[in-house]
Amino acid sequence: MPEVILKPRKARPFHARHPWVLGNAVHRVVGQPADGDAVDLLSDKGKWIARGIYHSQSKIRVRLYSWNPRAQLDIGFWREKIRQAVRLREQLGLSGPQAAVRLIHSEADGISGLVVDKYANYVVVQCTALATATRLDTLIPILAEELHPRGILVRTERQFAATEGIQIEEGLAWGLPAEGPLFIEEHGIRFGVDTISGQKTGLYLDQRDNRKSAAQYVKGRRVLDLFCYTGGFSLAAAQIGKAHDVLGVDSSRRAVETARANAELNSTTNVSFEAANCFQKLESFVAAGKRFGAIILDPPKFAASYESVAKALGAYHRLNRLAVSLLEPDGILVTCSCTGRVTGVDFARMLSGVASKSGRDIQILEKRGAAADHPVSVAVPETEYLKCFICRVGRGTEST
Ligand code: SAH
Repeated sequence: MPEVILKPRKARPFHARHPWVLGNAVHRVVGQPADGDAVDLLSDKGKWIARGIYHSQSKIRVRLYSWNPRAQLDIGFWREKIRQAVRLREQLGLSGPQAAVRLIHSEADGISGLVVDKYANYVVVQCTALATATRLDTLIPILAEELHPRGILVRTERQFAATEGIQIEEGLAWGLPAEGPLFIEEHGIRFGVDTISGQKTGLYLDQRDNRKSAAQYVKGRRVLDLFCYTGGFSLAAAQIGKAHDVLGVDSSRRAVETARANAELNSTTNVSFEAANCFQKLESFVAAGKRFGAIILDPPKFAASYESVAKALGAYHRLNRLAVSLLEPDGILVTCSCTGRVTGVDFARMLSGVASKSGRDIQILEKRGAAADHPVSVAVPETEYLKCFICRVGRGTEST
C-alpha cells in the first residue's frame, strides 16, 4: 500500500478522525499512488493513523475513510458504511414510500465526497470527490441492493467537478427512467421534484423540520417567504400553519413555476409566488410601506460569493435589517444561514446588530439546525453548517 507521511506535529486532527488531509500537512508520498488509489496515512514517526484515498490534484490530498488498520476499502467496507447510514434513516422514520430523505451525508456519515438522497422510489447520487466518483461501479450496485429503488441517477455539481477533476456521465446509472415528474410527501404536503435540473439533488431536505417548526408561529398572519425555491416554507405556512396568506419570492423562474405547481397540487389557494431578486423586492416593499406578520429568510450560501465571513455577515445584516423593518410589532422572523463559516454565535451577534440599528427587540424563540438525516459529526465541525433561528421582533422603541 502506498504511504502518505505527514509533517511533524500535523497528526492530531487525523487521530481525532477528521477526514481531510490537506496538501500542506503532507511531508512526502511513498510508492506511486495514482489519483483515486487507496493509501495509508502515517505520522512523521512512521505510526499508522488511517486509510484513505489519494488525489494529487486536489486541495484535499487524502480523504480518510477508515481508522482500522485491518479494514480494506473494498466492496464489503462500502456496503457496511452505506448500511450504517441507511439504518439511521430507518430509525428516524424517514423510509416511507413517498419520503424525501438524505441517506448519506458525506463526511457526517463517514463517506467523504458522497451524497445520496432518495425521492420516493428514485435515488440521486452526487459525487463531490474523485474518490467516490471513481468508485461508482462499486457504490451503485450496493445502493441498488440495499434500497431496491426504481432507478438511480447520478449528478455532479460543476464546482466539484472542476476542483476535483471529476468526469462522470450524469443521468440514469441504474434501473428504469422515471415515467413522469417525481412526487414526494413532506409533513403531508406533496411536492414535485426535479431531480435532473433542480437545485441540489432536487430539494433542500436539510430544512424539512424547520419548515414545520416555522409553520407553528404563523397562524392568521401575512407571510413573506424569501428565497422560497419550490415553496417548501410557503406551503408549510399555509397548510400546517394556517397563515392568512403567503407570498413566496425567488429569483429562479423555474423554481417559481414548480412552486406554483406545488400549490396547485395541494389545492392551496392563499399562496402566490413571484420571480424576483429578494433584495430588490424587500427594498420596494419598504418604499411602499408594506407590512407582514412573519418573514422567512433562507438565502443561498454567502461566504463563497462574499469572499470573507465579515462580508457575508454584512450581507446577512442588510437582509435581516430590511426584513425587520417590514415586520409588524411582535412579528415573526425565521432567519437562516447555510454558510458554514458563519457560526451560530456570529449569526446571533449579527441579529443583535440588527436589533440595535432598527430599535426593535429581537427574541430568539428557537435555535435550530439541519434535520437529523443531516447529522453533525463531532470530528468534522464543517458538517454543522445550517442555522435557522425563529425570532420574535418587538415593537420599535418609538412606539413603547
Ligand atoms: N427555502 C427553500 C430553499 C432556498 S435555497 C426551501 O425550503 O426549499 C436558496 C434559494 O435562493 C434558491 O432557490 C435560489 O434560486 C434563490 N436565490 C439566490 N439568490 C437570490 C436572490 N438574490 N433573490 C432571490 N432568490 C435568490
